[in-house]
Amino acid sequence: MSDNSGKILVVEDERDVAELVGFNLERAGYEVILAHDGLRGQELALKERPDLIVLDLMLPGKDGYSVFKDLRRDNRTSHTPVLMLTARAQTEDRIKGLEVGADDYLTKPFSPKELVLRVNAIMRRTESTPGSVEVSAGPFRLDKNNMSFYLNEERVDLTSTEFKLLLFLVERPDSAQDRNQLLRTVWGYSDEVHSRTLDTHMKRLRSKLGPYANLVETVRGIGYRLNVS
Ligand code: CA
Repeated sequence: MSDNSGKILVVEDERDVAELVGFNLERAGYEVILAHDGLRGQELALKERPDLIVLDLMLPGKDGYSVFKDLRRDNRTSHTPVLMLTARAQTEDRIKGLEVGADDYLTKPFSPKELVLRVNAIMRRTESTPGSVEVSAGPFRLDKNNMSFYLNEERVDLTSTEFKLLLFLVERPDSAQDRNQLLRTVWGYSDEVHSRTLDTHMKRLRSKLGPYANLVETVRGIGYRLNVS
């Protein structure tokens, strides 16, 4: 249970929730930093450079969406994975959280065990992979060690989720990849809401591929294919 490591920032104004989350993450092996409002959370994200941020959306002062957008715009935190917490149970609101580019979400009330599982899944996604370090296909080159991506040898910034999605396709060029397989590999599970998340992240990924966006093809009824032949 404690073979995990990494620093996690929890931004949550409900102190009992923050404490519970913090306690469970620490027990799972993580170092935890707590912030109880949006501005403080943002400040600590920049100062402490956590490996992952658990971000509540409803925060006093500066709300979670605004904090998230600022973090994504800042070079220092643009890669940091974010797990959003939301009190709203409506699917549309959850999807809004994912459409701004969060790596995952949990709806309150959630079980601390579920939160730890989600955090573990994101952390596994972002850790470096031993073995062959570089993979390439067509104009794409990915360095798994430091999660850097090069488009025609020009460095392009990707979030950890975008990197993992592209890596999955680059390692399996010219064959259609089933969306459920992609979901399970990158998020650890597949369901309807996460299915929309996949499309959102793919859309963002494509927008970063510039003139090569069309190499990532949608295969109707199946999923996605990297067409580099
Ligand atoms: Ca709150």
